[in-house]
Amino acid sequence: MSRNPRPLVFIISAPSGTGKTTLIHRAMARDPRLAFSISHTTRPPREGETHGRDYYFVSREAFRKMIEEDAFIEWANVYGEYYGTSRKEISRLHRLGKDVVLDIDVQGATQVMEKLARDTWVSIFILPPDLETLRHRLVTRGKDSPEAIEKRLKAATDEMGYAPKYDYQIVNDDLERATRELLYIFAREREKTEA
Ligand code: ADP
Ligand code: 5GP
Repeated sequence: MSRNPRPLVFIISAPSGTGKTTLIHRAMARDPRLAFSISHTTRPPREGETHGRDYYFVSREAFRKMIEEDAFIEWANVYGEYYGTSRKEISRLHRLGKDVVLDIDVQGATQVMEKLARDTWVSIFILPPDLETLRHRLVTRGKDSPEAIEKRLKAATDEMGYAPKYDYQIVNDDLERATRELLYIFAREREKTEA
């Protein structure tokens, strides 16, 4: 297994329903140097999601205990549920010598940007083509209740206000084009660390 000489952390955010998970899965299938950071969450699993692959699904009590123990590098309340990246998960991935992909919201991303050294992370914000398309994607995904979809849409405009703070912005219009753009960013940023 190849080890990256200086592993990077790729912080990726997007309003829910933009297609971030789809894009990350596609990019990871083509780029063996990436490893996905599995977050802890108190939200219930969606159909098809697996504990220990998509998330570590935990109770609110367990999550609270982890906050008290300072087990998270970042955590946030997103759409009424708790989400966090454990320090243990980051060290596990660093030991593998892979570049780490963090799929986290704008609050968590801000915390990571403040905590990690500037030359160790790269931030990427994925935008939907427009809000109507975002609504359509949330509805056709068919995995959130109408109330959950409304919460996500309401938050989307505020979240998009953070996009200029990220190093890169990608519009997820055509999936293949957006996947290539993401892979190009990974390759370009690695080249910089290896120069
Ligand atoms: P997120 O992780 O950002 O919440 P998902 O990856 O679950 O979003 O994608 C939301 C829905 O939109 C899914 O049904 C997915 O298949 C669809 N989707 C993702 N990217 C595109 C795209 N470029 N064009 C059309 N549909 C897309
Ligand atoms: P979903 O419930 O749709 O999987 O994710 C909802 C939101 O929570 C997304 O914006 C996603 O990026 C974010 N998220 C997932 N894991 C984490 C995490 O560990 N920390 C933070 N801050 N946000 C997360």
